[in-house]
Amino acid sequence: MHDFIIIGGGILGMSTAMQLKQAYPDSRMLLLEKESGPARHQTGHNSGVIHAGVYYTPGSLKARFCLEGNRATKAFCDEQGIAYDTCGKLLVATSELEMQRMEALWERTAANGLEREWLSAEALAEREPNITGLGGIFVPSSGIVDYAAVTRAMAAEFERLGGEIRYDAEVSALNERRQEVVVTSGAGEFTGRYLVTCSGLMADRVVRMLGHDPGFTICPFRGEYYRLPDRLSRIVNHLIYPIPDPSMPFLGVHLTRMIDGSVTVGPNAVLAFKREGYRRRDVSPRDLAQMLTDPGILRVLGRNLRPGLQEMKNSLHRRGYLELVRKYCPSLTLDDLEPWPAGVRAQAVSRDGRLVDDFLFVNTRRTLNVGNAPSPAATSALPIGAHIVEQVKAMVEG
Ligand SMILES: Cc1cc2nc3c(=O)[nH]c(=O)nc-3n(C[C@H](O)[C@H](O)[C@H](O)COP(=O)(O)OP(=O)(O)OC[C@H]3O[C@@H](n4cnc5c(N)ncnc54)[C@H](O)[C@@H]3O)c2cc1C
Repeated sequence: MHDFIIIGGGILGMSTAMQLKQAYPDSRMLLLEKESGPARHQTGHNSGVIHAGVYYTPGSLKARFCLEGNRATKAFCDEQGIAYDTCGKLLVATSELEMQRMEALWERTAANGLEREWLSAEALAEREPNITGLGGIFVPSSGIVDYAAVTRAMAAEFERLGGEIRYDAEVSALNERRQEVVVTSGAGEFTGRYLVTCSGLMADRVVRMLGHDPGFTICPFRGEYYRLPDRLSRIVNHLIYPIPDPSMPFLGVHLTRMIDGSVTVGPNAVLAFKREGYRRRDVSPRDLAQMLTDPGILRVLGRNLRPGLQEMKNSLHRRGYLELVRKYCPSLTLDDLEPWPAGVRAQAVSRDGRLVDDFLFVNTRRTLNVGNAPSPAATSALPIGAHIVEQVKAMVEG
């Protein structure tokens, strides 16, 4: 019998495992991951940005955990000798409408307690000679890191403290009883007093295995990237973001300096026909059927038909994609867009057709399940793990 079992070897599962083992050093703990190593899904396919917390609704879990996570991630990297770069981020307005939206963001950054600087068009051009805009906001605390490296370090720390990790261990059934939870996996059957699940793109299915209706369905959105050629690796000095449309949950195509020295362009947000499907041609009949019969997802698709189709068009035609970036970086050409692997976001959609905005947890008597953890959950992984540990303590003591 294990004291705690954790499902999911992404950054949230590993952060939780590490911190739970630190809180209960004598406990018997097991982490189960279906892939053959850590960080094979969202955690290993993202922009690698240590977000500062610009966009999030003041008072939300996202706003709180992102701000804490920005500091905590850098401190963890310092401790572990993992490379990161606090290169700062520039939000660039390219139209009068975006200037108005930028003012609203300026207020929000104040409410979220961020250090920031308002830049005129001239100040913007001085900081970024290859970027054009009417103005911008500079946020110095944003940074970049390799989240797969952070996750591997968390896994190593968990194992060093005596925790056990089983890879190639897909969980296929869960049975919550009065005193324990029975977990059936590809690596055998295990029993734990408590269970924590951080299963990303499979979050709703894992909650359903417990016999609970999670109240949401995961909708997969592929985020496609390009990479700039090496000769353009110095084209920007900071992370460059457009001013987002407040009605759209994703942030718009940005220019991201990566920790390996390259620059990526992206991601867009295209409906994926397969959870964990990284190529355009990946289709899962099961996933597709579930999406097309889910009332919440159908409502979201209906309401966002035009922007959704536009994203698909830009996904198929690089020129449309390029135009999104050329708005603020006009010197880029089609030949500058080199291929780069895509990621798939796990976005929870509620039954009434809302894209769930904040981080969401679903608890039962002996289990704690991460339901919605989109960006900035990689940045926020340490505080989210600490939050889960607090909730587990309440379960154990309650
Ligand atoms: C394109 C893109 C860009 C992003 N950019 C950023 C960014 O710049 N900054 C930021 O902070 N965040 C970013 N994010 C968000 C961030 O990557 C995710 O929020 C974070 O990685 C979520 O971590 P996770 O552990 O919940 O999920 P995952 O990394 O997806 O891990 C879940 C794990 O659970 C495992 N699993 C699922 N089902 C089972 C099962 N039945 N049995 C066993 N194992 C199972 C999976 O194999 C997987 O390894 C981005 C995401 C995407 C997709």
